[in-house]
Amino acid sequence: MPAHRAETLAAGDFATWLGSIGQALRDGTDSAVPCGACTACCSAGMFIHVGPDEAAARAAIPADLLVPAPGLPDGHSVMGHDRDGRCPMLVDGSCSIYDHRPQACRTYDCRVFTATGVVDADPARAGVMERASRWRFDYADAAAREQQASLLAAAATGQEPNPLGRALTAIAMSKTRG
Ligand code: SF4
Ligand code: SF4
Repeated sequence: MPAHRAETLAAGDFATWLGSIGQALRDGTDSAVPCGACTACCSAGMFIHVGPDEAAARAAIPADLLVPAPGLPDGHSVMGHDRDGRCPMLVDGSCSIYDHRPQACRTYDCRVFTATGVVDADPARAGVMERASRWRFDYADAAAREQQASLLAAAATGQEPNPLGRALTAIAMSKTRG
């Protein structure tokens, strides 16, 4: 009997997406990820950065959940997770502070792994990687496919030890078409 194949997910037009994620990285514009009911990245054992100017998020998150961010100037914080890797703001399967969630959550987009071919082998990230493996981009032309090929090559030779950082660096360095 053939193995069950997970349903694929429409990731949108590749070149358009690359332009949008590039902008999100440059100026913090929210990423419009069609997450549906997925909350995999909210239970992936991540420390969520909260900047000093994020007043709404700071007001929404209990103060005792915010600790100084290692290696960053005073005022920068991170929010940890429980033993199972879940963000404490994830309540009954959804974000309890969605309208006031931190910038890091607003810009997070698991399609960066799909686009760059970077794999995060941390078991805590298995849900995110499963989701990333199901996205399928559309390519308007051969140039878009070449654009992704160079992104894959850049990510494959990236030196950054953190997988998310490696994917984002490759994207930040890639040229989008005007
Ligand atoms: S893992 Fe991806 S699809 Fe799931 S909630 Fe996070 S960004 Fe959305
Ligand atoms: S603050 Fe909300 S969106 Fe961000 S990780 Fe926690 S539950 Fe997810």
